[in-house]
Amino acid sequence: MLIRTVVGVDIGNSTTEASVARVGTDGSVRFLSGALTPTTGIKGTAKNVDGVAAAVGRSMSDAGIPLSELDLLLLNEATPVISGLAMETITETIITESTMIGHDPRTPGGRGLGIGVVVGFHALSELGGTSSAAGPGESVVVAVPAGEDFEVVARTINAACARGVAVTGAILANDDAVLVVNRLDSPIPVVDEVARIDAVPEGMLAAVEVAAPGQSIRTLSNAYGLATIFGLDADETRLVAPVARALTGTRSAVVVRTPSGDVGDRVIPAGSLHLIGALKRATVDVSDGAAGIMTAVRRVGPLADVVGESGTNTGGMIANVRQSMADLCGHPLTEVHIGDLLAVDTFVPQEVRGGLAGEVALENAVALAAMVRTAHSGMKAVADAVRERLRQVGAERIDVVVGGVEAEMAVLGALTTPGTDKPLVVLDLGGGSTDAALITPDDAVVAVHLAGAGDLVTKLIDAELGTGNLELAEEIKRCPLGKAESFFHVRLENGTAQFFDSPLPTTAFGRTVTLGDSGMSPIPTRHSIDRVRAVRRAAKERVFVVNALRALESVAPEGDLRRIGFVVLLGGCALDFEIPELIADALAKYGIVCGTGNVRGTEGPRNAVASGLVASYAAQSASVGRSVGA
Ligand code: ADP
Ligand code: MG
Repeated sequence: MLIRTVVGVDIGNSTTEASVARVGTDGSVRFLSGALTPTTGIKGTAKNVDGVAAAVGRSMSDAGIPLSELDLLLLNEATPVISGLAMETITETIITESTMIGHDPRTPGGRGLGIGVVVGFHALSELGGTSSAAGPGESVVVAVPAGEDFEVVARTINAACARGVAVTGAILANDDAVLVVNRLDSPIPVVDEVARIDAVPEGMLAAVEVAAPGQSIRTLSNAYGLATIFGLDADETRLVAPVARALTGTRSAVVVRTPSGDVGDRVIPAGSLHLIGALKRATVDVSDGAAGIMTAVRRVGPLADVVGESGTNTGGMIANVRQSMADLCGHPLTEVHIGDLLAVDTFVPQEVRGGLAGEVALENAVALAAMVRTAHSGMKAVADAVRERLRQVGAERIDVVVGGVEAEMAVLGALTTPGTDKPLVVLDLGGGSTDAALITPDDAVVAVHLAGAGDLVTKLIDAELGTGNLELAEEIKRCPLGKAESFFHVRLENGTAQFFDSPLPTTAFGRTVTLGDSGMSPIPTRHSIDRVRAVRRAAKERVFVVNALRALESVAPEGDLRRIGFVVLLGGCALDFEIPELIADALAKYGIVCGTGNVRGTEGPRNAVASGLVASYAAQSASVGRSVGA
């Protein structure tokens, strides 16, 4: 019997995996090692060679076999699908004439609600005398420009109060609220860090509200509270409702009423999507949100292509996805078709247009993940390049073969998980796509590739928390949270405490931190631990629970989930600490056994395709051997 050294290689969108085995002509397989590296370049392009060479090199050295003994490299016939992401805001808050400052400085001063007419700081010194316009008893809110010393500010306010002017609140340009309040004879609510203080209109009625530490404002975030203060009728109240909504959850705020001032909460005309299915077509407005879009996708499915309305944001977004895919894989634009679309509702903090202090409002947005099918996969070119490279580095006798449909290979690999049986569905939770394959008891395989996976989760977390840093968002996605309450302990997100022998880094103190393998990293935002956790879990649910159900409905016999016995989760996101649990919870009611795969009983959810390639090759060579021998 001849024994050959074979390596199976799976090039994914994110990860390249390799499994080394000795395969006998009798069909015997002995796996020796497995390795993975990040994929270099776009899947299906010659740039993949670097990643393949690295993964193969590492797995061979782990197996203790020199490259010169490598006989065969099996490459997956990668599904020619790549995915793209786009996000579009569909609402926008605009302030005209400085009506509102929904401002949340770190350290407002005082507390309570102050209502009065806005006066400039220098005018305040003249109030209260017999000659002044505002007589004793009139309430004022003072606006203090940058550059005024806090001692002087406090003294001036105290003096005005002593003259009988009711100073009920203050708006400061400097970050001095606490310093000023500490020096006042009778404390008032003070909001600071208002960058464009000059734009606060004098002579208008204003309200300043500051909540106690740990609390949020009650009056200015309530539409009827605003109506009461400013004497608004029902129509005007309807107009200011977005102001109240934008101020919800902040600790402090200022609202100024100007005669023609207006805060608009307008729906941006985002444009529509034209969904082209095999048999049906539909047009759906992106501002309908994810539910509307996904209903249309389901009704039209299977999708053959998607076009965005030209001249709109949606049109631009879809064109971008298509163009970048065409550029990346070097196919003409006409060969790039969108085969699946996942829409997710999200909120993104955006700076309010016309705001005075960098105010931020949470705007509605829709995130879209698109799956692009191209005419051919380009794997042949990758195979040639890999052969050349590996021969250069010492694998003189290597042969490279492209073979095996990815989904079928994943199923073969998944079936090596102990405790599994057919009918079985593999759910491969990758970076760009969620892929599912069903194998029936008579070995028929049905597969589906859906847009939206780990990268979309990361992007949603980044957008909703406004981190502006995908690496940090990735860290937040993968790690549980904690709060460094002292230099020696961290309160974990599940409420328990973890103690340390040596002091924690000073940068972590008092911060919400991620607890990764390489230590803790502080999250440099002011979001509470509960909020970060809620955003993280919601993003995972909206992508993976939705996609798991979509995938299973599409591969299950007659769309009936109850006829699926086992679901094996594979891929990078099956390593996540909560995604498998979220999916299992959602599938429990269908009587499905769902768990994270353990390929070959050792590899966890990794290396399924690479192992499947080797197993399939072994089975083939055995049958060839038999027929030759017979
Ligand atoms: P592909 O098959 O498309 O190459 P992978 O199976 O490697 O993709 O999955 C990549 C995704 O898995 C990424 O979104 C990444 O964030 C996620 N991922 C990788 N490792 C982990 C981990 N240890 N915990 C959670 N998520 C992970
Ligand atoms: Mg994969």
